[in-house]
Amino acid sequence: MERVLQKMRPSTASIQALILALVVAGAASQVTGQAGTGQTVIQKATEQFENNPLKTTVLGQGLFMFSGDGGDVTAIVDNGSTLIIDSGVDTRVTELSDAIFKATMRPVTRLVNTHWHFDHTGGNVFFGSAGVTIIAQENVKKRLSSVQSVPFVGLRDGHYPQEALPTVTYSSSMTLHQGPQQLILVNYGPAHTDGDTVVYVSPANVAVVGDIFSNHFYPIIDLASGGSIDGVIHSLDEILARTDEQTKIVPGHGPVATRANLEEYRDMLVQVRQRIVDLIAAGKTIDEAVAAAPTKQFDAKWGSGYVQPNVFTKMVFSSLTYGGSTGR
Ligand SMILES: [Zn+2]
Repeated sequence: MERVLQKMRPSTASIQALILALVVAGAASQVTGQAGTGQTVIQKATEQFENNPLKTTVLGQGLFMFSGDGGDVTAIVDNGSTLIIDSGVDTRVTELSDAIFKATMRPVTRLVNTHWHFDHTGGNVFFGSAGVTIIAQENVKKRLSSVQSVPFVGLRDGHYPQEALPTVTYSSSMTLHQGPQQLILVNYGPAHTDGDTVVYVSPANVAVVGDIFSNHFYPIIDLASGGSIDGVIHSLDEILARTDEQTKIVPGHGPVATRANLEEYRDMLVQVRQRIVDLIAAGKTIDEAVAAAPTKQFDAKWGSGYVQPNVFTKMVFSSLTYGGSTGR
């Protein structure tokens, strides 16, 4: 039985959109992203996002990270305002907003989205309705504007209302200033999705990398949104080249990391990719590749997140063979 999570926003769930979503859901009936329990990856992840306590971490003077309610959220203060990076899940945005105000004592005026996924843009309606300027790579706006289907993990989302869409977009790079900090927003091409933003904050020496890095579990590679294993590795190489041992890395999920953590993650991805390349070269099917357990050596450390080893193997296999757009 397919169990696709419907994440239609009540304010936009017009009959038309709903019918379209159901039709698309029917077409994408071969969902391969089922976790072992019968839950999709997204159902499993959403349970965590709904229930994990919201935690505030001080990254430096005037810099904070909020975690637990979906993707990690970063806040940077100026004299009279707060800029945030990502907005968590919609169901916990009031709690997030309260925590941000408690930590920064300033109103949020700007919001940068690292990519379009619901656990990073769920608060966009809330903040956008309040007049907050939303900034993102241009493909984020395209994806949030229409219904998106990610059959691999059981995600169906998009078609956000106007107030939740980015009003400022860029293509490859953009520079912002917030108080004493300079923020350089960079897109290294498709990686986790086709609209990823990495934010380098200096002089604080913080890099906010979104879901290009999950600390520390296997990542979702959103093939349906143009993501690929090779793109993720390419972006990681660029981030490694631009950071140092002192850089604080804010991942898409999980605790603050170091460059060494990022390097270990990159090396894991490179090794898993190579093993799957070898299995493909040997003529193995996707199920035979899963049976060969190419991630086995890494599962103890990286396999306990909501992306199970078999799902991760299938994503990488598909990324290297079909481009993955069908999720099979
Ligand atoms: Zn994501």
